[in-house]
Amino acid sequence: KIRLDHVVKTFDTFRAVRDVSLDIRSGALLALLGPSGSGKTTILRMVAGLEYSDGGQIFFGDQDATDIPVRDRGVGFVFQHYALFPHMTVAENIAFGMKVSKVKRDRAAIEARVTELLRLVRLEGLGDRFPAQISGGQRQRVALARALSVDPKVLLLDEPFGALDANVRHDLRRWLREIYHELGITTIFVTHDQEEALDLADRVVILKDGKIVQEGTPEQVCRDPQSAFVMKFLGDAN
Ligand code: ATP
Repeated sequence: KIRLDHVVKTFDTFRAVRDVSLDIRSGALLALLGPSGSGKTTILRMVAGLEYSDGGQIFFGDQDATDIPVRDRGVGFVFQHYALFPHMTVAENIAFGMKVSKVKRDRAAIEARVTELLRLVRLEGLGDRFPAQISGGQRQRVALARALSVDPKVLLLDEPFGALDANVRHDLRRWLREIYHELGITTIFVTHDQEEALDLADRVVILKDGKIVQEGTPEQVCRDPQSAFVMKFLGDAN
């Protein structure tokens, strides 16, 4: 379980995240939803350990996250601009995380895991291609396989399908849901797309100006929007 307790993040004088408290149970599929600049990415980066909060605390289980080095957090992430290495093949990209991980595996074990992951993301047979030789949707799947390669306990996805066209997004969404059900891994994803959040997540957190304005299941937030902002923001999806 991950818990954010009154977390604050300030850049110079700008408060990007203001007093955010949040419980994320193990196995949840949680969406952070909100307009551009509402603090979604910053929250994700703090959970990943790529950014420090300057107020409040983040807990992984009972442990204060600041006491856990990034590589020990058991977190895999796919960020919007976290591109694949262009000079490495698909298989090498996926293997990369395992090679730098502190869990040492021999070559055969890495190869077996890459094959397994290629199957999971439905890219069997494409391991020898370079990123430039596959489609955008396929690249996203490689990025996800790379994130999964080290058996993370938590998966963080920042607008994973952001740059893709509507049809590909739709396919990837369905596919992500399948993977999630297969692996049952705690997943937090950031999106500004209401439909994507409501369709995919089992819990939605809606942010505005660095604050949580509503939280609940997709049904709850749709049935009972608690402010004009939420109503309008969700309504814009239709
Ligand atoms: P988007 O959907 O556009 O990615 P977001 O909801 O993820 O937006 P954040 O990226 O978390 O929003 O940014 C929240 C606010 O903090 C924005 O106003 C942004 O300009 C500011 N911000 C983020 N990172 C930094 C930084 N390193 N330095 C200064 N300001 C920053």
